[in-house]
Amino acid sequence: MKFSTLAQYYEKLEATSKRLELVDILSQLFKEAKAEEIGKICYLIQGRVAPFFEPTELGMAESLAAQAIGRAFDPTSPRLRGASNPKEEVLKLYRKKGNMGLAAVQLATNAKRRTTNALSVSDVFGELGKIAEFTGNGTVEKKVSTLSDLLKKLDPISVKHVVNIPLGTLRLGIGDPTVLDALSLAKKGDKSLRPVLESAYNKTSDLGYVAETFYKKGEKGLSSIKLIVGKPVRPALAERLPSAEEAIKRLGPEFAAEPKFDGFRVAVHKNGDKVELFSRNLENTTHAFPDIVRGAQREIKAKSAILEGEAIAYNPLTSEFLPFQETTKRRRKYKIEEMAIKLPLVLFAFDLLYLNGKDITAIPYRERRKLLQSIVSKDGSTVRLAEERVLHSAEEITKFFNEAVSEGLEGLMLKKLDSPYVAGGRGFHWIKFKRSQSGELTDTVDCVLLGVYAGRGRRTEFGVGGLLVGVYDEKKDEFVTISRIGTGLTDEEFRKVAEIARKIKVSKKPARVNSKVEPAFWVEPKVVLEIYADEITKSPIHTAGEENGIGYALRFPRLVKFRESDKRAEDATTVEEIKKLYQNQYERSNIKI
Ligand code: AMP
Repeated sequence: MKFSTLAQYYEKLEATSKRLELVDILSQLFKEAKAEEIGKICYLIQGRVAPFFEPTELGMAESLAAQAIGRAFDPTSPRLRGASNPKEEVLKLYRKKGNMGLAAVQLATNAKRRTTNALSVSDVFGELGKIAEFTGNGTVEKKVSTLSDLLKKLDPISVKHVVNIPLGTLRLGIGDPTVLDALSLAKKGDKSLRPVLESAYNKTSDLGYVAETFYKKGEKGLSSIKLIVGKPVRPALAERLPSAEEAIKRLGPEFAAEPKFDGFRVAVHKNGDKVELFSRNLENTTHAFPDIVRGAQREIKAKSAILEGEAIAYNPLTSEFLPFQETTKRRRKYKIEEMAIKLPLVLFAFDLLYLNGKDITAIPYRERRKLLQSIVSKDGSTVRLAEERVLHSAEEITKFFNEAVSEGLEGLMLKKLDSPYVAGGRGFHWIKFKRSQSGELTDTVDCVLLGVYAGRGRRTEFGVGGLLVGVYDEKKDEFVTISRIGTGLTDEEFRKVAEIARKIKVSKKPARVNSKVEPAFWVEPKVVLEIYADEITKSPIHTAGEENGIGYALRFPRLVKFRESDKRAEDATTVEEIKKLYQNQYERSNIKI
């Protein structure tokens, strides 16, 4: 496929504000794609040249992109002809237009060049890939000249979109489930293959790899996709229930219970001595936690493994679990080694997904746990087996819950003994019980920041007076609104929201956001905030779980913490969960925990 054809699709995708249209346009694009290029197209429509978890350094600063644009179009563009500093001219135009692509398209059009327009999707992908790979001396110059040479060969519409890729500002708002729907539609004519595609995606998190396998080996190829060390697995998720009795009904007469540690979820991928770490939201965090990498090399007794655990700051001398506020200090870009010594983490391993070349997600939890015990020790200094008790009654749950909370832990995780590991799935295999700030059982909701209201009065200085937040509708792959939050944030938190919002501001409502209210400005759905609310109510204003014009809303919402580093927008609380919380709150009065 020619890149200019893909660029025309970018135009169409950019113009729509409806998710169903996104799916249709994408499926037309996918119909035109060959097996060798479908993977690349899947990355390119999300503005990338690799799966999102690979730390490719495509990133170019605005000034470098401006330099490349100035160089590409300087000789013939009337605007730039004779300008003493083309880069500054480009930046001026960029400031006027608010987007580098829009500045570039104008210059490319004015430049009256002749382009052969012959570059294919694979050619452009290859050149962008080179930009990501340059390292060492002269990197900056190499990046600028590669981008500028590439731009020279492209038609204006292609220029417009290509420029936004290294800048990270190609915002078509296409979520992964939308891509999966479109792949099914393109090949099968309907969305019936979405579950098979999704299951393959949940195991590898790599859209390009899944799409290519699908195109080359069909539906059968998809079903035989297994976990791969180095590709993150979408984590299994926990359900909530209102009481221990309810939990027992789901779990059966015998079940496992583990402390719920309040730290970061870490997936360790080990292959020989090579260790990579992934976060809850599948980011590669290997460089952030050198102590865990070394611990995993030393203490995990397996040739290859994928195991999961919760990393938490821990004082081995006093056996004390430190609060989340301490653990979170380890999320940093600088002085990493220094902090690793000052605040070492212990990884409490709780599940094993892959061992010595074999995907073991399908075998029962009970068996996986035995294998985990065979490769990780109870008293490892960095990687340690999480405590597990096999329980049988509500009384035992209450006792263990109280013990865990009194040790400063967050609560309990109950696990079904015969359950497989379902990547990316819920399904009552795991049930979580969390303590609230006051010590009883309550829940918080993970909301996505969708928009921002202007600051008035004292808050004018922050530029943000309130937030519009939503939850995730898994079935529709949409973000639906659930609350406006105007109080319950400290000044510092308001400042932080303002700073975040500025970075992800978009000019119109994103296609995947479904809202009846209009904030001062919309943001890309990206940042997750943990919100504590008194109650879930019904409201005509919001679109969460909307039926006959009435949706769900949060009463008295307060911000608990920013979860931008560990949850993706699609990992926020779902509409289904909100429905359950709504129903459960009436049963809460007889909670025994
Ligand atoms: P939540 O983030 O509140 O939905 O709770 C689920 C999270 O609890 C998981 O993603 C893990 O990060 C964390 N967690 C802590 N302890 C455990 C455990 N023993 N088993 C599974 N997950 C745990």
